[in-house]
Amino acid sequence: MHRVGVLLPLPLAGAYDYRMAQAARRGLLVTAPLGPRETLGVVWGDGEGRLDEAKLKQAVPLPGEPALPPSLCDFIDWVADYTLSPPGMVLAMALRSRQAFEPETMRTAYIRGDTAPKRMTPARQRVLEIASDGLARSCPDLAEEANVTPAVVRGLIDCGALSQTELPEFKPFAAPDPGFAPPALNTEQGLAAHVLRGNVAGRRFCVSLLDGVTGSGKTETYFEAVAEALRQGRQTLILLPEIALTVQFLDRFAARFGVRPAEWHSDLSQRERRHVFRAALSGEARVVVGARSALYLPFNELGLVIVDEEHEQAYKQEDGAIYHARDMAVVRARIAQCPAVLASATPSLESYVNATSGRYAHLKLSHRHGEAVLPQVRLVDMRQNRGEPGSFLSPALREALAVSLGAGEQAMLFLNRRGYAPLTLCEACGHKMICRNCSAWLVEHRYRKRLVCHHCGFETVLPAACPQCGGVATFAACGPGVERVAEEFRAVFPEARTAIASSDTLRGPAETQSAIRAMAKREIDVLIGTQIVAKGHHFPQLTLVGVVDADLGGSDGDLRARERTFQLLHQVAGRAGRAEKPGLVLIQTRNPEDAVMKALAGADRDAFYEQERKYREAAHAPPFGRLAAIILSGHDGDAVRGAGRVVAKAAPAARGVKVWGPTPAFYAVLRGQTRERLLLQAEKSVDVQAYLRSWLAAATVPKSVRVTVDVDPVSFF
Ligand SMILES: [Zn+2]
Ligand SMILES: [Zn+2]
Repeated sequence: MHRVGVLLPLPLAGAYDYRMAQAARRGLLVTAPLGPRETLGVVWGDGEGRLDEAKLKQAVPLPGEPALPPSLCDFIDWVADYTLSPPGMVLAMALRSRQAFEPETMRTAYIRGDTAPKRMTPARQRVLEIASDGLARSCPDLAEEANVTPAVVRGLIDCGALSQTELPEFKPFAAPDPGFAPPALNTEQGLAAHVLRGNVAGRRFCVSLLDGVTGSGKTETYFEAVAEALRQGRQTLILLPEIALTVQFLDRFAARFGVRPAEWHSDLSQRERRHVFRAALSGEARVVVGARSALYLPFNELGLVIVDEEHEQAYKQEDGAIYHARDMAVVRARIAQCPAVLASATPSLESYVNATSGRYAHLKLSHRHGEAVLPQVRLVDMRQNRGEPGSFLSPALREALAVSLGAGEQAMLFLNRRGYAPLTLCEACGHKMICRNCSAWLVEHRYRKRLVCHHCGFETVLPAACPQCGGVATFAACGPGVERVAEEFRAVFPEARTAIASSDTLRGPAETQSAIRAMAKREIDVLIGTQIVAKGHHFPQLTLVGVVDADLGGSDGDLRARERTFQLLHQVAGRAGRAEKPGLVLIQTRNPEDAVMKALAGADRDAFYEQERKYREAAHAPPFGRLAAIILSGHDGDAVRGAGRVVAKAAPAARGVKVWGPTPAFYAVLRGQTRERLLLQAEKSVDVQAYLRSWLAAATVPKSVRVTVDVDPVSFF
């Protein structure tokens, strides 16, 4: 008998002891009884030996004895330790495809049969010629290859000229070809690609920041590192921040390597997920492109990790085990002993500091690819340029729009706010329409005639009378959303063809794609959108970008607000003039003196970064200090506030550590849950995890209050 520790994919404190008939290595997948049922588990190490041998239950290896790679097990332990999450909860992310180890489902396919058909036609002849190579194909595949109707194929099946067999449900992933279509790189790209290829060939852990202006060809450049990994027989993981970006990306990849890579994200079906999981484990998938959860795929031969748009906040997972996928990708590469590449036009300050201090290699691409030049950026001071009351498009922006439309070119108006107006206010008594579940304003969506909470999804209609003063027709819409900007634009330019692009006017990636296609085909003159239009898209005729309100986002004590505003607006500005025609960007702001605005206008990005660096250094903020948040939440507001005081009191005194709070979270009530936050600020040398562990062990919190730990928080809501 062998005693082993088995980790179950459940939020339990650690591994449980089981007995096994054989010695088992770490990573081996087993079924293990848990209470009345059997569950999937992973051998994590030796048992602890606390439980009597006679009481141990037996774990059994899965058929074929599949195992998670040791580097993945080490990674799971690392993430659990760093984020203070139960390791089983992190393991659950790796075993999200629960049926990954069940027998594969099959589909019907056909091969050449023994019987010859009585009647032969040219169409039938073609089908049989194709089938005579002995490969099994589905009916639609045969019909397509032979360029005949499926009826022709069915006729051959009926007469026995084709016989039925079975194939795995999914076709195997074809190997990408590193020599398929190598690009012509410019000098800067060539130098960067040379460094990246060398890192991949060297098979050592290192991190490079590929820091290139928008349109400089970062993707083509890091594809050369992918090509090298393919030549070396190693697997590559490419992380993208959003699913909406993957379709375009997969096509670009296929143009370079001849085939699409495997993709991994939450929109896949269970069966597709199982297919990709197995292909990553077997090595059949050489390259996987995915969202943050692709970090937990079982790569055995990982040779390269790439994080595209590394600055994106979407990389932060905000529920379950809270982690930052960019930071964890670097850890994954370190454990696998392979290089990591972070790519961005507007790196996070953390990566910028790491690169400029020499911890990361800093590979710069400072020119746009081909003929395109960077757009000209002008600030419009809204204190002096307001235009008529109630108008959100300044005279300067209106004039630029007229010029651009007159020249037959396209424009984009950007406002990062969905709906018609962010606030509905009673002008008689000042009553604000607020969500009943959250302490947040209800946003008017005029097309749908609804007031909507953007946090919990609560919807209602505008009441006939003010709930506070009973006034009738006293409500006023305050501030603009994209719908309101579109309304004003259409009133000024009734001839122009417009479309609104925001996550509630475009439902899902498919509709977003079709709006993007319509814009690319010039069926739209002006696209009015939120951040959904900010990235990744290439519109050759788009020469004017108007940023309606650059001051949104504000500061609100969020240390990354300025950085984020800069990143987003820089990205939006980068949409203009990506082909031969020069681009113009007008940014409407009431703070033209602000460093963010100056950096955008002067195109001196690094001046802004240096200022942010100084500011953060002085404040001991990341990356010069460390932060962690403890969030307490629950339905009983008094219990949550009481627990906040208890936790604050329990904070151990330690050198280099400050604890702030408890304070109500920015949205003190969210989805009906009262929320209190405590913030830990520590010097870089402090072991934050150890501190948090002893702190939380010392505080007793009622069961009704949920305690969430967020190490390195990026959101302060
Ligand atoms: Zn009122
Ligand atoms: Zn709400």
